[in-house]
Amino acid sequence: MLKWVRNNLTMDQESVERIAHKYGTPLYLYSRSQIAENYRKFDRAFSSVPHLICYALKANSNLSVARVLSRQGAGTDIVSGGELYRALKAGFDPEKIVFSGVGKTKEEMVYALRVGIFLFNVESIEELRTLDQVAASLKKKAPIAIRVNPDVDVGTHRHITTGTAENKFGIHKNYIEESYRAARSLKHIQIKGIQAHIGSQITSVAPFLTLLKLLLNFVEKLAKNGIPLQTIDVGGGLGISYNEERPPDPKDLAQSFLPLLKNKRWTLLFEPGRFLVGNTGILVTKVLYRKSSSHKTFVIVDAAMNDLARPALYDAYHEIVPLRQRKGEKKVVDVVGPICESGDYLARARTMLFPEKGELLAIKNVGAYGFAMSSQYNSRPRAAEVIVEKNRVSLIRKRETFPDLIHGEK
Ligand SMILES: *Cc1c(COP(=O)(O)O)cnc(C)c1O
Repeated sequence: MLKWVRNNLTMDQESVERIAHKYGTPLYLYSRSQIAENYRKFDRAFSSVPHLICYALKANSNLSVARVLSRQGAGTDIVSGGELYRALKAGFDPEKIVFSGVGKTKEEMVYALRVGIFLFNVESIEELRTLDQVAASLKKKAPIAIRVNPDVDVGTHRHITTGTAENKFGIHKNYIEESYRAARSLKHIQIKGIQAHIGSQITSVAPFLTLLKLLLNFVEKLAKNGIPLQTIDVGGGLGISYNEERPPDPKDLAQSFLPLLKNKRWTLLFEPGRFLVGNTGILVTKVLYRKSSSHKTFVIVDAAMNDLARPALYDAYHEIVPLRQRKGEKKVVDVVGPICESGDYLARARTMLFPEKGELLAIKNVGAYGFAMSSQYNSRPRAAEVIVEKNRVSLIRKRETFPDLIHGEK
């Protein structure tokens, strides 16, 4: 957790500045206690019903970050064979792994069936048939849920909406019943549940409640047709507060969900990513230069869009604060990185304390889709990652070196 102590930014009682001096910048820094607390908040809210929280590994797949969650008892939602590999290394129980994604390959299916994952979230009939064949070749049954495209708009950024008919995800709600009938006819498919994931950074309860009702409606219809389901998975997407947003708490979700689930035996599944890790990380960066033109003032820092893509990609807002609170003049600035792209910015037209040359800044709420989306674009070695645990600061990913940049090349 971030706290000011005598005007210095600390994370779980450790000075961020001291950590930054030790490990250099740009630097991702995470709070273990915050990750665990976020998980427990979610878990507690639904303690009165059978449930499983499957952390969406893509949000932050660092082994040590993921391990905090696997130790808490979380499952995980994976979207590739590579993520399955990571999930196992991070200690997740295969029986708590669900596998999403529109393009699972046969090789990935074999891997997941051998490992014995909990569920495949199937996103097309062709995928379903392929999975049946792959399972047959291994003499196994593949446990599945069908991902519904509910065609609901959740009002978030176009690039992070996933539940409308325009998106590639899931099977459209009009074809769900025939899909389950098809699944039932396949010998190596075991029908377990139903799933949907409608988008990310959702800041109200309403879309989730609409979704749950729609899924329950399917569950009842299918049961009447002799296809009983055991799991109902409402996906991820719960938002966090980056700026002024006031997203609901898991408790608020539970309050509207639980009356609909009373005396039922279904297991409720969630796939939160951002909610569990988003507010647990900061990106520490150093001011390299400042400059002004007639129109603008730029603050050039040593982190860039290759380290944090969200502002360039989604126009995302991340609060930026100096590591030492001080008085000074405020200015409207663009905070930009060294990459040769005009889109390389971390904040645009931001009113902030005008940073000094060499000053260290923290870009907040970057625990989700931060490092995970980083790249080596412009041949920039990726940043180091550090976690603060109880009285201990641990390097959990080394800063990349120049030889790392050409690894595997000829
Ligand atoms: C990305 C994703 C999630 C997690 O979304 P958040 O907004 O980070 O909670 C969950 N399920 C699926 C299928 C996803 O693709």
